[in-house]
Amino acid sequence: MSDTEQFASDNYSGICPEAWAYMARANEQDASAYGEDAWTQQAADRLRETFESDCDVFFVFNGTAANSLSLAAMCQSFHSVICHELAHVETDECGGPEYASNGSKLLVGSGANGKLTPASIEQLVTRRSDIHYPKPRVITLTQATEVGTLYSIDELKAIRAVADRYKLHIHMDGARFANAVAAMGCTPADITWKAGVDVLCFSGTKNGLAVGEAILFFNRALAEDFEWRCKQAGQLASKMRFISAPWCGLLENDTWLANAAHANACAARLAAGIESLEGVSLSFPRQANAVFVDLSEALQKNLRARGWHFYTFIGGAARFVCSWSSTAAQVDALIAAIARAVAEP
Ligand SMILES: *Cc1c(COP(=O)(O)O)cnc(C)c1O
Repeated sequence: MSDTEQFASDNYSGICPEAWAYMARANEQDASAYGEDAWTQQAADRLRETFESDCDVFFVFNGTAANSLSLAAMCQSFHSVICHELAHVETDECGGPEYASNGSKLLVGSGANGKLTPASIEQLVTRRSDIHYPKPRVITLTQATEVGTLYSIDELKAIRAVADRYKLHIHMDGARFANAVAAMGCTPADITWKAGVDVLCFSGTKNGLAVGEAILFFNRALAEDFEWRCKQAGQLASKMRFISAPWCGLLENDTWLANAAHANACAARLAAGIESLEGVSLSFPRQANAVFVDLSEALQKNLRARGWHFYTFIGGAARFVCSWSSTAAQVDALIAAIARAVAEP
């Protein structure tokens, strides 16, 4: 695949140099297995510093496992999890959360721009209180959302108020959490525990690692026995240091934030270029590292025929995602390709 032609996803990107360097360093000497090594200790400590929190930290292989296992940690099998209808846990995890929790049901809510609203959450919680309805226990929010938008601090706090009223925990799917922090110019703490988030799944993969997601329990009581849950689910890496050492590379000098800011800037450039074209519009506001564009099926086919890789998202929009490795030249080439496709009769 030519690297000038892909905007399919940030997980098409490679490993960023900083993570790669730490991978090499971790390979210089043998170290203890199963996370009992100095790299894992260091990565967890750096995450605690970054989040200004004495949280419990775990590393797993991928986002589906991070979401599924952390949600399962908050639920009995008869509980339910409230999510947006476009949430990855609902649409793209093959029932992983239900499987990991032995049946906790996802209750699907709604809201514009991929964001759950307090009213939608309240409606799901209050429509039933009888013994026959799975008892709501957790709200899961994706930050940045599946459509590249952001929950503001005020929106997060309004959802926390609903959560408090009904004694619900808040889980955050942070597959693109770094992009949210970079875009909002806030601290990681501001949009997690300070806004009432109990547990965060923080993706390293989409930010620049080969593999690896961190799960941060700000509410440490919820992490009880979590290491056994990870082990049983096949998510305890034997050579854990090759997940955790690259995390040290991301966290050192805030490389994670620079990677995300770069991806966001590329997306902003792309959005501006596309919006300047006659007759083409964005499907959602561009707030992080993804750009959704209303392009007809014929136009999408035309672009693909010219070698461009991108997803057609639920609902039909073309989704272009930028990463740490995107370049301005690639973005400009894509804008030019869309302009040409649109101008063709
Ligand atoms: C990519 C992604 C995940 C994680 O997916 P895996 O393929 O399991 O690593 C989770 N949530 C969202 C919103 C994502 O985009």
